[in-house]
Amino acid sequence: MKVELQNLTKIFPSRNKKSGEDVVAVNNFTFTIPDGTLVGLLGPSGCGKSTTLYMISGLQKPTSGRILFGDEDVTDLSPVNRGIGLVFQNYALYPHMTVKQNILFPLQNLRGKDKMSKEQMLERAQEAARLVQIDGLMDRKPSELSGGQQQRVAIARALVKMPRVLLLDEPLSNLDARLRLQTREEIRRIQKETGITTVFVTHDQEEAMSISDVIVVMKLGVVQQVGKPQEIYDSPTNLFVAKFLGTPPINVFKGSVQGGKLYIGDAAVLDVNGVEDQDVTVAIRPEGFELDENGALVCELSNVEVMGRDVSVVSRHSASINPIIRSIINADNKIDVTSKTVSYTLKPHKVFLFNAETEERIYFE
Ligand code: ATP
Repeated sequence: MKVELQNLTKIFPSRNKKSGEDVVAVNNFTFTIPDGTLVGLLGPSGCGKSTTLYMISGLQKPTSGRILFGDEDVTDLSPVNRGIGLVFQNYALYPHMTVKQNILFPLQNLRGKDKMSKEQMLERAQEAARLVQIDGLMDRKPSELSGGQQQRVAIARALVKMPRVLLLDEPLSNLDARLRLQTREEIRRIQKETGITTVFVTHDQEEAMSISDVIVVMKLGVVQQVGKPQEIYDSPTNLFVAKFLGTPPINVFKGSVQGGKLYIGDAAVLDVNGVEDQDVTVAIRPEGFELDENGALVCELSNVEVMGRDVSVVSRHSASINPIIRSIINADNKIDVTSKTVSYTLKPHKVFLFNAETEERIYFE
């Protein structure tokens, strides 16, 4: 099911009529989610991702804009009539019911032409349970399940009505690190198997990158960039997106362009053709540094952390905006840890320039 968001805006009026300002939680969001795609809505707390999800679900009404499922305008439909499955961070299973009863529950409430026979319901519940691999636990109560198993029951409950669109709001937040990984792979598998168009809300960039076909990065209610995870990582449109994606985080410096050369401090570190002379903000991915004793970017060496295949070199520079610079270097390189400095050349495709004021990307050749 294709989902179309047309100029979606949500404004929460201020509670304090005299002095408070309205909150624009989502600002003019236009985007088409292709059928069968898993879209990750990504951004820091308060950027409007949950509000977007709730508008798609029908739990919240947009202030303006339309939502279409396929060719059907669902903007004014209630959540039950939209055919959505919703999973929250707090999976909120009914504690007094067994797993089976929990999964059956949404089917028992169906009325009219959708009403199902007991056999049909049981068959559907079994199928949903099989999909999330909890069919062996049908007679347990939620308290007898691990967090990951409970979340799977919540997903089965959302899937059992065969939703047109599956909406997941931080579904992994309550799980420990290992379960998070496992459950996110599960969600990906289930989504691929069912082909249900899915929207996945998270503030965790790694989670969004690993699970999504397409990521939407949001900030203060405004969409910053939409694209495949790798495309966004490789070509961020502004400094916010560059900083939000990637671990270790991108390294940011004050710099300037003069005569087609990029300067960090007094050193010309890269040729940047096609850019006018100006002050810039320079962002360099940790894998964008190459050790080179004649390299132009000379940093003060702090320490070297061994990470197995790679080492992480921690250094400092007076033009660095962050307290430390972290580069990732192949462990085959020999690093003199007693040296006071470390010198680098830069890989041009891992270096991004941004306007020092607007923080928008400046492209160079
Ligand atoms: P989080 O990850 O913390 O859940 P989010 O990106 O999902 O954040 P939203 O919950 O969509 O963000 O909130 C977006 C903005 O709208 C925030 O500034 C929030 O305070 C505000 N907001 C959300 N719900 C309401 C409400 N019911 N009334 C007033 N303001 C609200």
